[in-house]
Amino acid sequence: MGTLLVRGGTVVSASGRTEADVLVDGERIVAVLQPGSTLLGHDLASSVDTVVDATGKYVIPGGIDAHTHMELPFGGTNASDTFETGTTAAAWGGTTSIIDFAVQKTGEAVETGLAAWHEKAGGNCAVDYGFHQIIGGVDEQSLKAMETLVDEGITSYKLFMAYPGVFYSDDAQILKAMQKAADLGLMTMMHAENGPAIDVLAEQLYNQGKTTPYFHGIARAWQLEEEATHRAIMLADLTGAPLYVVHVSAKQAVEQLAAARDRGKNVFGETCPQYLYLSLEEQLGATGDPTWGDFEGAKWVCSTPLRSRAEGHQDAMWQGLRTNDLQMVSTDHCPFCMKDQKELGRGDFRAIPNGIGSIEHRMDLLYQGVVTGEITLERWVELTSTTPARMFGLYGTKGVIAPGADADIVVYDPAGHTSIGLEKTHHMNMDHSAWEGFEIDGHVDVVISRGDVLVSDGAFHGRAGHGRFLKRGLTQYLT
Ligand SMILES: [Zn+2]
Ligand SMILES: [Zn+2]
Repeated sequence: MGTLLVRGGTVVSASGRTEADVLVDGERIVAVLQPGSTLLGHDLASSVDTVVDATGKYVIPGGIDAHTHMELPFGGTNASDTFETGTTAAAWGGTTSIIDFAVQKTGEAVETGLAAWHEKAGGNCAVDYGFHQIIGGVDEQSLKAMETLVDEGITSYKLFMAYPGVFYSDDAQILKAMQKAADLGLMTMMHAENGPAIDVLAEQLYNQGKTTPYFHGIARAWQLEEEATHRAIMLADLTGAPLYVVHVSAKQAVEQLAAARDRGKNVFGETCPQYLYLSLEEQLGATGDPTWGDFEGAKWVCSTPLRSRAEGHQDAMWQGLRTNDLQMVSTDHCPFCMKDQKELGRGDFRAIPNGIGSIEHRMDLLYQGVVTGEITLERWVELTSTTPARMFGLYGTKGVIAPGADADIVVYDPAGHTSIGLEKTHHMNMDHSAWEGFEIDGHVDVVISRGDVLVSDGAFHGRAGHGRFLKRGLTQYLT
């Protein structure tokens, strides 16, 4: 560890860019200096323990992926990345903090679910990690348990309007939980899709012999995302609870968020790389892989689903990111292999485990949006690090390059190149890549987490157990 100087780069923040050297002492950033500064008569480069040359490159705060599901039990199997493999892949891709979802299953105590998550993650993470709490069964006991979450450093919890019989909460349960959250200052995160209606459509499609992955996208119609988003907004409005809608994919859902924000409400939205780049037609309907034929689309079965490009949802997500009607991009990283996992739903799309693996590629995929002119360089940093830190109570320690902040630093090379694919850049524990063939006009060169160099010169120097649990404060993003 010791002292480290990131020299000669362009430091990019959410609000601008500047040529500067970054001095690290131990785990913290201690100074952001004029290039070549000889502070107090010292030539820093010759007196520090480690010099990282960032000439011609961007120096940005480490990525924060605020939506991951390591080892999530789903549909009779578990998400294929462990905390070790998933956070190692995160580090490779320039993400130095994750916020995963601890799960309270229906019928289980919240404390039991949370303890199980600490057990899985503790000592196994390569980067820092925090938790949101999934409340899978809202009742008197779990409402009471919500009161202890803030002291645990867990300041956000998630409800589901989808998945009846699994995580589903009805409107009465949502209202009660939001009332509690408003009292406690907790951020309510919502999976906003009308699950009971989706289940009817899915069963009807199945009974008509429409069983391929494509129909996963048809059953989960945008009307049911718009409707649930609106309902969540109005319930939150009634209770005064701030609301964060996860994995927004329908342009009509963005319109609902925008309308609420125009009324001054504390309503926020996240989208994911898959909703920016992938579509119902090209991916869910894919049949080109000879191994899988018309089941190939299972690689991209996730919820909310990939939506029709003809309907313009992808363009609307980029637009929402520009206008700040969407504030963040997380991955909803929830990887499953095709073999033995996605395969469970061959012949019945309803049984395909829902999820895509992207944790390694989020920084690159969003940077490509800078290259193509969808977002600015500063907005890239804001969407992937600064706002996630503010939204979930980490800002100051994370999300910024400034004295006193954790030395979570990524050196990103705009002249580099990254080819994504299973035999190329891929460290996630999956037998396929949802991003096979994507080419990025940039490259994650050096990744530093709390002063330790985790990635440099194309090699991984990190270890499981480096990552620490992040006790988070209340949201710092309210209007
Ligand atoms: Zn969800
Ligand atoms: Zn999720």
